[in-house]
Amino acid sequence: MALIVQKFGGTSVGTVERIENVAERIKKFRDHGDDIVVVVSAMSGETNRLVALAQSIDEKPNAREYDVLLSTGEQVTIALLSMALNKRGIPARSYTGMQVHILTDSAHNKARILDIEEKHMRNNLNEGKVIVVAGFQGVDEEGNITTLGRGGSDTTAVALAAALKADECQIYTDVDGVYTTDPRVVPEARRLEKITFEEMLEMASLGSKVLQIRAVEFAGKYNVPLRVLSSFDEPLFDQDGSSNGTLITYEEDEMEQALISGIAFNRDEAKLTILGVPDKPGVAHSILGPIGDSNVEIDMIIQNIGADGTTDFTFTVHRNDFEEAKDVLNKVAAELGAREVTGDDKIVKISLVGVGMRSHAGIASKMFKTLAEEGININMISTSEIKISVVVDEKYLELGVRTLHSAFGLEQKPV
Ligand code: ASP
Ligand code: MG
Repeated sequence: MALIVQKFGGTSVGTVERIENVAERIKKFRDHGDDIVVVVSAMSGETNRLVALAQSIDEKPNAREYDVLLSTGEQVTIALLSMALNKRGIPARSYTGMQVHILTDSAHNKARILDIEEKHMRNNLNEGKVIVVAGFQGVDEEGNITTLGRGGSDTTAVALAAALKADECQIYTDVDGVYTTDPRVVPEARRLEKITFEEMLEMASLGSKVLQIRAVEFAGKYNVPLRVLSSFDEPLFDQDGSSNGTLITYEEDEMEQALISGIAFNRDEAKLTILGVPDKPGVAHSILGPIGDSNVEIDMIIQNIGADGTTDFTFTVHRNDFEEAKDVLNKVAAELGAREVTGDDKIVKISLVGVGMRSHAGIASKMFKTLAEEGININMISTSEIKISVVVDEKYLELGVRTLHSAFGLEQKPV
């Protein structure tokens, strides 16, 4: 018998009919003998509706009241799902974040979980009840309702799984797992059976948005095996009794030894270059300091080798921040006596991700060769232990991802 935390996202509980389907699914797990703690999101579209309501009153609504409002979406779902379970003869009990006592800090709208009281849940589980918890919400020391940031129900589920030392945390969503890349770009993309926490973080932060990043960080920190799977797919169990989807877990020796696990990409990139700045200590800081002060996040940074006492400096930002960063950079350029500022907001980033890179050389050169053969020019390169990223013209995104996917044989299962 296992203890499983199951999280159902907004689409999975988007209608009463779907809530009834979720109840059926939970019933099957119960019949299988498992203890179940369920975490639900608000019904799809509901949180957005609440956000719009708030903003129709005030562009920047009071943060405390905003959380009081946004947390109501999940409260509807826990009640409806518990009713659907009770109707099926399954004793269930709903809990808001406050009732569980999910203690958070007081950072409204982006609170962090500090502690979870497990006593009530344990007692209920011992009594054979299914526990249905509202995702995305908690309570601070002063008893104020807090929310965890959009997509925060994933984090609630992982945190509960960690606190209860659950055997697995299952995230049901509208995709059936994590793919080698976006199947809309590469139809041959393959669902991964397993991926490590580290790889998943790279895939997620690079744009393969399946899970809230914070949830993956949390799972990695507390070693909670995390499975992403579709709430619409049957069968529920594979032949061997295990459920399907993609398991996100720690690195094991016998893990499928692929060199590359996936290709992530990001369309929201822009780059800025400041040419001919004096090559002396403190220059990087005088350029990036003001950018940081204007709350623009910087991703890749490249500084060229200096020549004639000057150097060039290039970095990438989110496309939405391009104009603002350019304004700041123009001011900096005037102060530093730089020659010129140039920019390009029609670029994208493509990244190969895989823990297999640690033990295999030659992946970067194969990547560059593959792109060169397609006539794709690389603008910038950055690497880490398990990732190689290149910046290219946005018109090459699809071609680049598709060619790399086939060059590294990602459509085939590694042997
Ligand atoms: N309902 C919240 C949102 O839409 C939290 C979640 O679904 O995870 O962001
Ligand atoms: Mg979600």
